[in-house]
Amino acid sequence: MSDLEEPFDAEALEAARILFQRKAEFVMGAVAIAGLPDPDLPEVAFAGRSNVGKSSLINALVDRKRLARASNEPGRTREVNFFVLDDRIRLVDLPGYGFARASRDTVNKFQNLGRDYLRGRPNLTRAYLLIDARHGLKAVDAEALDAFDTAAVSYQIVLTKADKLKPADVAKVVEATLKAISRRPAAFPRVIATSSETGLGLPQLRAEIALACAVTA
Ligand code: GDP
Repeated sequence: MSDLEEPFDAEALEAARILFQRKAEFVMGAVAIAGLPDPDLPEVAFAGRSNVGKSSLINALVDRKRLARASNEPGRTREVNFFVLDDRIRLVDLPGYGFARASRDTVNKFQNLGRDYLRGRPNLTRAYLLIDARHGLKAVDAEALDAFDTAAVSYQIVLTKADKLKPADVAKVVEATLKAISRRPAAFPRVIATSSETGLGLPQLRAEIALACAVTA
């Protein structure tokens, strides 16, 4: 495996594993930009289409079944939700986009809150855009990519539900995704394939987050 594919050594992976086993708590859900917590800790944010597996991924990262709530619980997924890990890193769950059921007005409101958060958050170290491995990048995701590039937020793509594809097909989607983002200025040139079911890619993602936030175990 090349350095590009596996940038973390065993020690870094183990340190990140230990970090993510520490206390993880729900802090608050914000419905307006004025209600965000003070920007006093490094934050990583997670964005993606509704149903992409965002809650499952956050829960799997911290190995807690119900920290982030499932998408079908009303209310919560329309807020920006904050979790704190080991009192040192905040994990931020941005509103899912591409709702079929919400009215256009409501959709805009949620998306604006996500966009305002991205633009105005000095302590945001990295955003993660979650993409279903079976679908790859779609037109609906372009808006999110544009929002990241406009906000000049460093972002990385995470493929979810990789267990639903054969490994060779996952590799193809990773390649295609890297190609699609190659000209995007703020895109981080590594794509991580994950599964919340099998744990694939989670050690690497934990290590990426720890590195982005400069937090060690
Ligand atoms: P959210 O709307 O993005 O928060 O999505 P959820 O985390 O609620 O997941 C949506 C659906 O996808 C649920 O039925 C999950 O069980 C399923 N799901 C999430 N992650 C995975 C995964 O890694 N593998 C598989 N096979 N299913 C998943």
